Amino acid sequence: MKRISSATWIGLAVVVVGSILFIEFNPYNPAGSGFAKTTLYLGYCAGLLLLTLALLRLITLERRKITELDSEKRSTEIQLHEEKNRFQIMFEQTNNCVALVSLDGRFTRVNQSLCELLGYSESELLVMNYFYLLNQNDLNNLQISIHELLENKTNTHESEHECFKKNGEVIWIKTSLSLMRDHTGKPNYYIVQLQNITMQKKAEERLHHMAYHDALTGLANRNKLEQFITHLLAVAKRAHQCFALLFLDLDGFKNINDTIGHDAGDLLLQVIAERLRNTVRTTDMVARLGGDEFVLLITDVKRSEDVAVIAQKILDNVLQAIVIKSHEIYITTSVGISIYPDDGENLQGLMKNADLALYRAKEQGRNNYQFYTQEMTGRAQEKLALKNALGHAISKNEFILYYQPKMDIRSHRITGVEALLRWKNNEFKDITPDEIIALAEESGLIIPVSEWILRTACKQLRKWHDAGFTSLTMAVNCTARQFKQSTFIDDVLAVITEIGIPSIFLEIEITESMIMKDPENTLRILDALKALGVKIAIDDFGTGYWSIGNLRKLSVDKIKIDKTFIKQVTVDDTSADITSAIIAMVNKLGIISVAEGVETQEQYDFLAHEGCREIQGYYLTKPIPEEMMTDFLKHPVPAAESTDDADKVTP
Ligand code: C2E
Ligand code: CA
Ligand code: CA
Repeated sequence: MKRISSATWIGLAVVVVGSILFIEFNPYNPAGSGFAKTTLYLGYCAGLLLLTLALLRLITLERRKITELDSEKRSTEIQLHEEKNRFQIMFEQTNNCVALVSLDGRFTRVNQSLCELLGYSESELLVMNYFYLLNQNDLNNLQISIHELLENKTNTHESEHECFKKNGEVIWIKTSLSLMRDHTGKPNYYIVQLQNITMQKKAEERLHHMAYHDALTGLANRNKLEQFITHLLAVAKRAHQCFALLFLDLDGFKNINDTIGHDAGDLLLQVIAERLRNTVRTTDMVARLGGDEFVLLITDVKRSEDVAVIAQKILDNVLQAIVIKSHEIYITTSVGISIYPDDGENLQGLMKNADLALYRAKEQGRNNYQFYTQEMTGRAQEKLALKNALGHAISKNEFILYYQPKMDIRSHRITGVEALLRWKNNEFKDITPDEIIALAEESGLIIPVSEWILRTACKQLRKWHDAGFTSLTMAVNCTARQFKQSTFIDDVLAVITEIGIPSIFLEIEITESMIMKDPENTLRILDALKALGVKIAIDDFGTGYWSIGNLRKLSVDKIKIDKTFIKQVTVDDTSADITSAIIAMVNKLGIISVAEGVETQEQYDFLAHEGCREIQGYYLTKPIPEEMMTDFLKHPVPAAESTDDADKVTP
């Protein structure tokens, strides 16, 4: 509008001046009147004035325009300055570590936080290359990502790296790399933001470690074992290599754990773990599956002899004394070995067969190693068939009891008999009573089997009492599993009441190891049995951990010295000394000492001389069935005499 009005002014001025000039110099009007002339001059002057005014107006407008432009520029400058300040403040005062980095990686600007994080001064960083601070193994991947940034495929690249501080410390950083371009779109520089994520990485590593390691020993756990074996199987398959799986558990660890306490048991496991770790190469693996079970994977096995050497080394190392809480502890281990690919093609197969081999090692008396053999699978299958057959033994009337007498040395009288289980089964003729009992315990059949034994033995005693052998006692062996049965005491009471025998004629035999395994419960049951009036005998005495010194704590009626000592009393001084000491101690405590497994006159003489009260063994007779026992009671061997009552009924 302003421009139009200026032009109008100028136009008007031109028209006025033009008309004056036209009038003044018009050849057809040479003698204009004075009035007209004056009017024209006045018009001329007015035109000039108007022209001047128009020019002045134009100048004013232009000036205003310039001033406006100036102020616009100034405000832009102020804005720019403010933004620069803001960036400066943000760059310097932010807790984030930020740097501007040239396209070839040189730092061109760094902030204080970054200097603090890396431990370098600003001037030091400004002559350094960002990429050289990172773990060089990461560079290849980083190059690819940077290439994508430059190709405009991405705007920002985020990654995690190990980074070296000035003091050599390695930290984990998370980086964000943004590419900046100039107004033409040409790559110009990078803005790099760094974040210290070392703590987070460490926490992640700890979680990962926990998921794959055993907390107590730091060894690999089952997860890690599975992971490693998957890798091992792949390698071994490709390279046609063999590897060995050693499965081991500590012999009698539970007893030791119960004796020395769980804390000390844990320390013991840590010592063993360390020893196992030191026995194998770093390429092998030692894992703890829980409890006292360990698995070793020996890689790249050339010959089974090499594995045997390692297994022997393990046995030797474990056997070394372990001192815990000033106790010197000795422990042994048994090892089962399976070898890939012959004994299994995966973890399950190898573990199963190593377990069978371990079972065999235990059977062989522990503290030894066994390689898996095909025959073991046969045995395992046989065992399964055996358990099945055992399950039907009661209903098929295949069980019977044999009886073995005990004689009082001083009076030569038969004081009682011990009931011993026998299984009449054509298929499993060779299986021993120990094995039957162990199998029954394993399969849970022990409860009905034991019930049958107690009932049958009590019925038999009643028969003998009725036949006149009224002072005869009946000893029945019991197992740990029975003692755990909450109804055990009630069941015993129910049987003796129902059959009608006074409780003092029933004797329960338990082993030392039963007390050791669960002292609290065992002693509680023993007290309850005593309260019923039932007699208690400790069987196989001398083989467990329950020392003579502990005898005082038990209120038992009889101690049966284990037959392994008796066998040796006439040939080995140590056995003779131990036996003498046990007899002396037991007698002193007012407990009846019984020697089991007495076979010879010499053994008998020794025991009689040492003051042993009763004997049991082949010297009198082997365990015999009911009818033979009845005959025996009527006509005892010359060394023994029948009870008075039996004599009376003897024809
Ligand atoms: P145990 O209770 O120590 O029984 C004594 C074992 O020694 C019996 O073996 C017996 O036959 C054997 N024996 C007896 N005298 C002599 C001898 O002079 N020389 C030798 N060498 N051995 C002799 P058996 O009958 O084979 O029983 C073995 C084990 O099986 C028993 O040891 C006992 O622990 C267990 N057992 C047997 N019957 C039963 C039962 O009815 N219940 C339970 N729970 N266990 C039983
Ligand atoms: Ca016994
Ligand atoms: Ca015994």
